[in-house]
Amino acid sequence: MSTVYFASARVSKWKYDESMPGKLERLLKEVDLSKYFEKNEWAAVKTHFGSEGAHRIVRPIFLRKVVDALKTAGTKPFITDTVRIKGLDYLEIANQNGINHLSVGAPVVLADGLYGNDNIMVKAGDILGEIATASLIYDVPAMVVCSHVKGHINAGYAGAIKNIAMGGVSGSHRHCGWKCGRGSMHTIGEGDLVWDSEQCALCRQCEEVCPLDCISFKDDKFSYTNERCWRCGRCARVCPEGSLHLPEDVDVFMKSLSEAAKAVLGTFKPNKVIYVNFLTEIQPECDCMPAADVPVIQDIGILISDDIVAVEQASIDMLLKAVPLPASLAEDEKIKQGEDILLGLHHKNYIIQVEEAERLGLGKREYELIELQ
Ligand code: SF4
Ligand code: SF4
Repeated sequence: MSTVYFASARVSKWKYDESMPGKLERLLKEVDLSKYFEKNEWAAVKTHFGSEGAHRIVRPIFLRKVVDALKTAGTKPFITDTVRIKGLDYLEIANQNGINHLSVGAPVVLADGLYGNDNIMVKAGDILGEIATASLIYDVPAMVVCSHVKGHINAGYAGAIKNIAMGGVSGSHRHCGWKCGRGSMHTIGEGDLVWDSEQCALCRQCEEVCPLDCISFKDDKFSYTNERCWRCGRCARVCPEGSLHLPEDVDVFMKSLSEAAKAVLGTFKPNKVIYVNFLTEIQPECDCMPAADVPVIQDIGILISDDIVAVEQASIDMLLKAVPLPASLAEDEKIKQGEDILLGLHHKNYIIQVEEAERLGLGKREYELIELQ
């Protein structure tokens, strides 16, 4: 059985030790990073830099605490993420969201280069075959995965598995393009996007959310670059009129996330990766969307484990006990107390990610929870 350490977001005394940064500091001491990492070893802190409008990411103060703990353990840490938009622009987004060398106390670098094609093909599994893993993550010997737990338009639930699967893999490979990258998780079943002109209200939200700028409107007519589209389905999911359609196989997508996570984690020796899940500002959508809605669940706290499956299961167990927040999308969707909030928002059977990760041998769903006092 794996151990998961937990610190609640609630404050019972007005002392630094009771604050979230203070509790994270204490949790990291409890976990004792020096058990996992060597002196002078380079250690990646993998997070998500967010987007220009999605500000509810893992806050820089928390990254700073992880960096400080890694330095205390004698390692040489840096903060990283793979490229989501053009690399230089993505570094600027990180800076705008407060993640820079001065704030976090360590270099902030891109894991797959400024062009997002600095990667190495790694064997994955039956669904994906091989996948383009970010070269920096491939090379670095140690990693702390800092994941902002939230809902997700495609995955239903996004935590550590999603952070490593999509976030440890490039968008594109130098020779085989997007089909060897993140797109290979999204595009199982390769159907084309279909636009229904009768229903379209020309709101252009689909154009705004497309991460690859595939969609444009000329003379109020939908136009899209089929060969570049990686079938992520975001455009269809945000369309308020139901005028965009893309065939998808949700179950296979969930399993492919676990398969990609296994491929990325397979580049590390055993016991060289620690997972920190932040159950804070739990908004309905991914941190790469153009905006972050208000949280649907109140802040719960921080979970840490060396077992990705256990930390995900513990996070989900806590989300399942949470109360849907008023004046949020959870209320709009009429989700009641006792119901699965993220399932009610996205109707995606997200637990498949965790079941598959356990089946692939990434960890155990059974865990012991140790709460910080
Ligand atoms: S599915 Fe839609 S949002 Fe995703 S890449 Fe293709 S056009 Fe863009
Ligand atoms: S989101 Fe839907 S309704 Fe809005 S422009 Fe795109 S296809 Fe049309």
